[in-house]
Amino acid sequence: MPPSVLFPFDTALLPERRTDVLIVGSGIAGLAAALSAPAVVRVILACKARVTDANTYYAQGGVAAAVSRTDSVRQHESDTIRAGAGLCDLKSVRTLTSEGPAAIDWLIKLGVPFDRHGRELAFTREGAHTANRVLHAEGDATGRVIQTHLLEKLAARPNVRILAQQFLVDLLVDRGRVVGALFLSPSGSVSSVRARAVILATGGFARLFRESTNPPVATGDGLAAAYRAGATLSDLEFVQFHPTTLYLAGAPRFLISEAARGEGALLLNAKGERFMRRHHPDAELAPRDVVARAILREMQETKTTSVFLDMRPIKHKMNSRFPTIRGVLHAFGLDPRHQPIPVRPAAHYTMGGIETDLLGRTGLKGLYAAGESAMAGVHGANRLASNSLLEGLVFGRRAIRAALDEPLSRPRRITVRLNVRREGPDLDVEDVRISLRSLLSRHAGLERTAEGLEEARKQIEFWERYTLARQFKSPNAVELQNMLILAELLVRSALWRKESRGAHYRADFPKTDDRKFKRHSRARI
Ligand SMILES: Cc1cc2nc3c(=O)[nH]c(=O)nc-3n(C[C@H](O)[C@H](O)[C@H](O)COP(=O)(O)OP(=O)(O)OC[C@H]3O[C@@H](n4cnc5c(N)ncnc54)[C@H](O)[C@@H]3O)c2cc1C
Repeated sequence: MPPSVLFPFDTALLPERRTDVLIVGSGIAGLAAALSAPAVVRVILACKARVTDANTYYAQGGVAAAVSRTDSVRQHESDTIRAGAGLCDLKSVRTLTSEGPAAIDWLIKLGVPFDRHGRELAFTREGAHTANRVLHAEGDATGRVIQTHLLEKLAARPNVRILAQQFLVDLLVDRGRVVGALFLSPSGSVSSVRARAVILATGGFARLFRESTNPPVATGDGLAAAYRAGATLSDLEFVQFHPTTLYLAGAPRFLISEAARGEGALLLNAKGERFMRRHHPDAELAPRDVVARAILREMQETKTTSVFLDMRPIKHKMNSRFPTIRGVLHAFGLDPRHQPIPVRPAAHYTMGGIETDLLGRTGLKGLYAAGESAMAGVHGANRLASNSLLEGLVFGRRAIRAALDEPLSRPRRITVRLNVRREGPDLDVEDVRISLRSLLSRHAGLERTAEGLEEARKQIEFWERYTLARQFKSPNAVELQNMLILAELLVRSALWRKESRGAHYRADFPKTDDRKFKRHSRARI
């Protein structure tokens, strides 16, 4: 069992900041929350690296909402529930989809320049959507455009203070209530922030896998800290693998948006054959997990390490719709207008997270979560493409409204002592991190078996024995400790779920078993 905090502290000896609401995370969920705070409310928004180091910045395809005249909230709701494979919470999905149009309107009023055809908003379609409902900005730069725009707006709010390069380590808990958090700076200095309420908007943990579309910050620190403090984590086994990421030696697993297939790009195997029709009636637009596993099958059958995305059918749209993708491919000497691009699946989005209700409340008083760090019940076992930016928007705004109702309390001294930890030779943090990420990609990826998961569990527990037993004052090492804790919980949840559902596929239990497993997995310290 991991310790309840990663290192001992005494708040009386630490530099301290005070605020009304502490928001951790500068992605869409954190920014939506901060921008929704009334001007009289003091907010500190902290993030562990630069403000733009977040999954949000990299979102390409767009944000889904039933805004178009040919769409309806009901249709968005039923597509979301169908993708979620029996584990969505109807009330949560209804909240997400029905508040979606107003949330988009809020963004537009803040000046976010979504792409338009003339004066009308432009929509694209992505896999498993039955309508064209995905709004985008600057073609495939939706996340960057939204995030930079919201950051600009936030800079003009005198009630909000942004603290970059502040790594959340642990939550401050006083008599069962979360009253702030402990931060570590890159130089190793520790400080605290006291608040009436803390909103974790710290994103997901798909970076735990070697093959991942996520930037390095996506290591699930918020989940690990909430778990140590006593919150419940849920559905950690559900990791969505994006089917099409660039597969080239030396290149990052750069995502090639599903919108490319939505516009007409095709998947070809190593023999140049279009194969998706053999796997699903919706072919290239089948749900993500179906496409990702079909790619895995084709790679196994043709004994190759990738398949190919053929964007030649949409070459006339490359400049207007996919300028970022085209630019990156160009930098690696590839021209998608003339050649199919090597792609393979990579870990992309984590459906599980800190369990919350519709207001972002966790099981701990004073602690809220929103966005990818939360499990609010909207994605079930599989997220519908482009629903996550929307989730951050809708639930980030809800969380701050609820957080403002938290009572004021006078900060009291909090002292946490831990037993002296075993000293030892230096630990090569990077080495453990690389090994862990490879292990998870190998045994807890697209296809899982009891044998592989057991092997992973034993190995992770072994690493934990000497890594969690130490105290580090460096964000890098603390991050590794968080990754180990989450990896173990993920593997345990995947072992428990002896069925296949949504993004979780057990080769040894290929069928869905509603009788035993139509319920959420839960982890609590
Ligand atoms: C390549 C890519 C493409 C995507 N495309 C789409 C798309 O088209 N549509 C869509 O809906 N979704 C898309 N997604 C998913 C979507 O981007 C994310 O789910 C969403 O942006 C998450 O927002 P968030 O605010 O919850 O977290 P993030 O945007 O990930 O922000 C997390 C924040 O938490 C901070 N943080 C983390 N740990 C700590 C710590 N220890 N201390 C302090 N701060 C911390 C980080 O610094 C960061 O500021 C994509 C994701 C990727 C990676």
